[in-house]
Amino acid sequence: MFEICGVRRQNRAPLQSQGATLNEQTLSRRLERVAAHVPQGARLADIGSDHGYLPVALMLRGVLEAAVAGEVAPTPFASARRNVRRNGLEGRVGVRLADGLAAIEPQDRISVISLCGMGGDTMCGILEAGKQRLAGVTRLVLQPNGGERELRQWLTDNGLRIVSEELLRENRFDYEIIVAEPGTAAYSAEQLYFGPLLLQEKSEAFLVKWRRMLRQKQQTLANFERARDAVPQAKIDDFNQQVRWINAVLA
Ligand code: SAM
Repeated sequence: MFEICGVRRQNRAPLQSQGATLNEQTLSRRLERVAAHVPQGARLADIGSDHGYLPVALMLRGVLEAAVAGEVAPTPFASARRNVRRNGLEGRVGVRLADGLAAIEPQDRISVISLCGMGGDTMCGILEAGKQRLAGVTRLVLQPNGGERELRQWLTDNGLRIVSEELLRENRFDYEIIVAEPGTAAYSAEQLYFGPLLLQEKSEAFLVKWRRMLRQKQQTLANFERARDAVPQAKIDDFNQQVRWINAVLA
């Protein structure tokens, strides 16, 4: 079993979403929303590309000038290479077996990097290790599966500001999309937690998500209470802080 985009899956059969087979022609709603943040004429590096659906779809749509699909694991790398070949895009979408931003070469002149469907901590590790390859990049499009707070902190610590955020729900999972560009910004602890722009907008989807999260956090705190000695106080304090923030936002 492996984890794909926040969903535990038993095999590598084509992804299904509400009856539709997902591929480079039919992206999931999540990847469609990511795609919407990639500007016309971009030179895209999609890191952790898996099947390569995002760069292949955007190249077929005429959005991209050039693309790289980076993958660290051999099986998804082979799948991305197959999809690129099947669509006649060799030479236009480079498929590279590499760890993180090591897939990017200076001559690629990459303008946009997408990192989607992996934990925010993994994304921070990839960005930190490949910092020098961010020179010349004008936009990051990020769709973390958890760890959003830490990811936003990394962005602000590293000269990037959040220019757009989206929240969507698909197949019973909430997904956040964070778009960052070079610039300075200072965010409060609450803004890092909820997302500065999501917090400002407070959409219906946002309120629904955080009502659900509140119930989960309260349940976790009740479980902590039962196992008091086993849970570090700092962790309990952090959860209590989160519950206070969520209550304040929903009030
Ligand atoms: N980006 C696609 C999407 O959102 O649908 C695929 C997401 S899939 C769950 C995560 C992919 O990231 C896996 O194929 C995994 O091998 C790849 N990955 C994880 N760590 C990586 C790294 N350090 N460098 C490149 N790829 C990585």
